[in-house]
Amino acid sequence: MSTTEFRVRAKRLVQAKRLVVKVGSALLVDGKSGRLNRQWLESLAADIARARDRGQQVIVVSSGAIALGRRQLGLKDGRLRLEESQAAAAVGQIRLAHAWKEVFDEHAIAVAQVLLTLGDTEQRRRYLNARRTLDTLLTLGAVPVINENDTVATAEIRYGDNDRLAARVAQMASAECLVLLSDVDGLYTADPSRDPAAVFIPEVTEVTAAIEGMATGPTSGVGSGGMATKVAAGRIAVAAGCNLCIATGRRPNPLRAIEAGERCTWFRRSGTARAVRKQWIAGTLRPGGRLTLDPGAVAALLRGKSLLPAGVVAVEGTFERGDTVSVVDAAGREIARGLCAYSAADAGRLLGRNSKDIEALLGYRGREELIHRDDLVLL
Ligand code: GLU
Repeated sequence: MSTTEFRVRAKRLVQAKRLVVKVGSALLVDGKSGRLNRQWLESLAADIARARDRGQQVIVVSSGAIALGRRQLGLKDGRLRLEESQAAAAVGQIRLAHAWKEVFDEHAIAVAQVLLTLGDTEQRRRYLNARRTLDTLLTLGAVPVINENDTVATAEIRYGDNDRLAARVAQMASAECLVLLSDVDGLYTADPSRDPAAVFIPEVTEVTAAIEGMATGPTSGVGSGGMATKVAAGRIAVAAGCNLCIATGRRPNPLRAIEAGERCTWFRRSGTARAVRKQWIAGTLRPGGRLTLDPGAVAALLRGKSLLPAGVVAVEGTFERGDTVSVVDAAGREIARGLCAYSAADAGRLLGRNSKDIEALLGYRGREELIHRDDLVLL
């Protein structure tokens, strides 16, 4: 594939409204000295600032906490015990966050540290919470810098690699493009460091068993991912309507290089993030409950508005916050489905009331909408 063809594909990066950039430990931290690659980080921050100037929202998923912390704690090379990696992450994360803050200070960009655990992306309630927090940060103009909360994560409840975490973050944020920057420039038919006949794959349109078979474990020894976790990330991302790109970060200004047509491997999405999410909501087999609306609320919904408690006349069923509910008109016709921001019990208390009374009625400050329009599909 030619530079021009890669440049055309890079439009997926340039035109994404929301972009996630994952940075591997091997790029951030020098393998020998254990020091932060400061200059390189500055060049990436400049690329990200440039994307923001074009109007893009950017989320960073940054590895490197354990690699930075282990050096400061004097832990020896080789595999760390769980407690050691937890300790190393606690020490290294401060340094990592500080480094990101410093490089973004140059561009007057606010950095927000977000540490996630597996539960935050896998449990619906917490997933929705994290999703809203990211939304708010991006709307306020900050760059969320995300890592796994390795200090509290234990073996069973841990991602362990930021490739799949980044893909789940991209899905959670309905991002349109995810760039995995690492020490390899893409996917090959075999490991190119071992097999000289390995052929570069510029584009994956379907993550088949053959593609998964090409991916092997970690090669760099600094991070914990490898090609296998990158392909797994590709699978998650494309299914969520997000294009994914595996590209080398072994050069300054890595995003600019992709935009200019440097080779990388693209995993092409099949639909848009919004469409995929809405399909998923519409396709819920058994909605947990039913909200009946007054005619005014039905009309508002059809105009593309969110559902406010004021327009709801009845709540039925048992559902938790974040579950799918069916939305019906006075005649019982299902007009929409959506993820309810309140449990059935709380929704019942809010029924017919004004959003400004939510805190007084429930004792906590919840969302204004019962179902936000992003979480709502008209049928
Ligand atoms: N979360 C780990 C860290 O910050 C990195 C995981 C990975 O290498 O993918 O050190």
